[in-house]
Amino acid sequence: MNKTTVVIGAGIAGLLLARRLQDAGGDVLVLEKSRGFGGRMATKRVGPAVFDQGAQYFTAKDQRFATLVEDWCSRGLAAPWTAGGHRRFVGRPSMTAVPKALAEGLRVLREHKVTAAHRHECGCWELDVEGHGMVRAERLLLTAPLPQSLALLAAGGVALPAAVESDLSAIQYNPCLALLLTLDGPSGLPPEGVAMTDGPVRWLVDNATKGVSPVAGSVTVHAEPDFSARHYAAAEPEVTALLLPEIAGLLKSRPTGVTLHRWRYCEPRTVHPEPMVWLPDLALGFAGDAFGGPRVEGAALSGLALAGEVINVLKPS
Ligand SMILES: Cc1cc2nc3c(=O)[nH]c(=O)nc-3n(C[C@H](O)[C@H](O)[C@H](O)COP(=O)(O)OP(=O)(O)OC[C@H]3O[C@@H](n4cnc5c(N)ncnc54)[C@H](O)[C@@H]3O)c2cc1C
Repeated sequence: MNKTTVVIGAGIAGLLLARRLQDAGGDVLVLEKSRGFGGRMATKRVGPAVFDQGAQYFTAKDQRFATLVEDWCSRGLAAPWTAGGHRRFVGRPSMTAVPKALAEGLRVLREHKVTAAHRHECGCWELDVEGHGMVRAERLLLTAPLPQSLALLAAGGVALPAAVESDLSAIQYNPCLALLLTLDGPSGLPPEGVAMTDGPVRWLVDNATKGVSPVAGSVTVHAEPDFSARHYAAAEPEVTALLLPEIAGLLKSRPTGVTLHRWRYCEPRTVHPEPMVWLPDLALGFAGDAFGGPRVEGAALSGLALAGEVINVLKPS
């Protein structure tokens, strides 16, 4: 009998979940479709400039998460960040530092996109992995945004209990259009390097001031949800032409380059009432920010909650 637990997604939820299970003696494999670790905790390099392009900071309000954050800070992977006067934390040197460290010593296959999850008659799972054939597992833990997780199950013809299916498919996500902007000098954003507007731009941060980019004037710009939904499919020049005039007055240097990133599943609009879903009859679990709350901290707590459930049924392989 195959004893492997497959976790889909190497975001914060999937990595914490996988670590806890492995530490408890489980045989764990993480499949991640992209090249990097961290999912929406993402860092992007454009020439010499570096940008946190997804999550900008994280909170640590819950003691269980605060304990982890304390450890990350003591290892230099994270640091307090007081922009806006709130108690927040950032990754050091950038947002992917924590996910990268969590992945060390775990079996994570990157650039492994799962396209379908089938229930085999032996009671195990069979996963189609694009370009890599099939992976078999005893149990399956899904941490991708819910529409993506549900699509994998639908592609494999898996029927969920009706109430679970209806709760999970009701959760919708806001998109976010993000611009990574390079300037010909310092941004001139307020001393902490952050600005917010009431218009279509929700948030701007100077990654040099934040300590992420070695190059002055490396600015991440996040559009607000309605604007992002309306213009989601618009071409990059069109989005840029709409957003840049909105922030021109806040910047003291001129743009020299811009890259658009489209986050289709930025944040869940509603959150599931439970911190995770575990279906023992199907050996199937769901975790992520759609359960714990639309933030890094919520996703992390959800991953830990699912780990707690699965550890109870883990048999050493
Ligand atoms: C623009 C933006 C700004 C944000 N700002 C903040 C902030 O300032 N503070 C904060 O706390 N939170 C913020 N968030 C939210 C935060 O990033 C998320 O809540 C959290 O990172 C979600 O973690 P997760 O593990 O649940 O999901 P994810 O990080 O999305 O991880 C899921 C992983 O699954 C992988 N995956 C998906 N489908 C497949 C497949 N078929 N096969 C294999 N792998 C697959 C994905 O590639 C991804 O790596 C922001 C998010 C965005 C996008």
